Amino acid sequence: MTGATKVSDLTRVDGDASIRTQDGSGRLWDSVKKAAFVIGSGILFLAAFGNSLTWHLQKFWGASGDFWQNLWTKLYTTYEGHDATLFFLGTMLAPMVTFWVCNALLMIVDITGKPSFITRYRIQVDKNIPVDPVKLRNAVKTVIFNQVFISGPMVVVIYYLMSWRGNPCGPELPTFHWTLMELAFFSLVEEILFYYSHRLFHQPSLYKHYHKQHHEWTAPIGLVCIYAHPLEHVMSNMLPVVMGPILLGSHVTSTGLWYCVALVSTTISHCGYHLPFLPSPEYHDFHHLKFNQCFGVFGVLDRLHGTDAKFRQTKQYERHVLLTSLTPLNESIPDSPKKSE
Ligand SMILES: [Zn+2]
Ligand SMILES: [Zn+2]
Repeated sequence: MTGATKVSDLTRVDGDASIRTQDGSGRLWDSVKKAAFVIGSGILFLAAFGNSLTWHLQKFWGASGDFWQNLWTKLYTTYEGHDATLFFLGTMLAPMVTFWVCNALLMIVDITGKPSFITRYRIQVDKNIPVDPVKLRNAVKTVIFNQVFISGPMVVVIYYLMSWRGNPCGPELPTFHWTLMELAFFSLVEEILFYYSHRLFHQPSLYKHYHKQHHEWTAPIGLVCIYAHPLEHVMSNMLPVVMGPILLGSHVTSTGLWYCVALVSTTISHCGYHLPFLPSPEYHDFHHLKFNQCFGVFGVLDRLHGTDAKFRQTKQYERHVLLTSLTPLNESIPDSPKKSE
């Protein structure tokens, strides 16, 4: 996606102005054209550089390729004739376990304020020390509700949809190249659907009734990623993630892998700690702090629509990098003097 960032210089738009005048059809059409241009560049970029990247990875994958296929064959024969079970193991159980393992670890840090090795990477330094237990309990309840009563039934529907479309639990694993292309495609679909549905939820009438709940957390923590009104959970959290595999008729393994990746990545973007060697959460953390900036996942569409204009003038923007040293970015790029440390 990095190839797309240059386009931004052509399309500087004031963030607020673009939000308020979005209904102007000329501007909307203009944005659609820009989006098509950026997405097209993204695909070209992947096509050009993906081949050499995947060739190297395939060498590694090829060496252990039989291992993964054998593992899948074993699982497949164990559950032969029980495709629904296989599908739920892959797309419900695996992502749920992944989500709760990550978030249990993060919650320990949020509740105890320890270890300091992690808390020193806190983005909003004076928040959640420790996290409010009442607020946390409320969030946990909503998250479980959304997973059991919204995501659960949706996965059932998706199973029937994908079985009707093809065979999501086939005996053969997809190739590594194809899996990688799928993940890229899923990310693209997620960026588009999440950006626009999320921005729609920021329209005052919808915001008040639906999205405000998610924004109760101006300094988010990991599991707040699915702390949302049920309607928002369907439209903004689930649909952008599940549409990709439905469109491609993906195998249960790549679908499950993608759900895990999407859950871990949204947990990281809400976790409130900018940890070394993990994707930067500054973008979405800033969205929770300021409400009218940074609506997307990767930032491509924010750049296009100018909804990151204010963000780009902040310290948070300077810190929005992959941290490759152990020094917290709050120390290496401190706030302006009026607010020390
Ligand atoms: Zn929002
Ligand atoms: Zn959020």
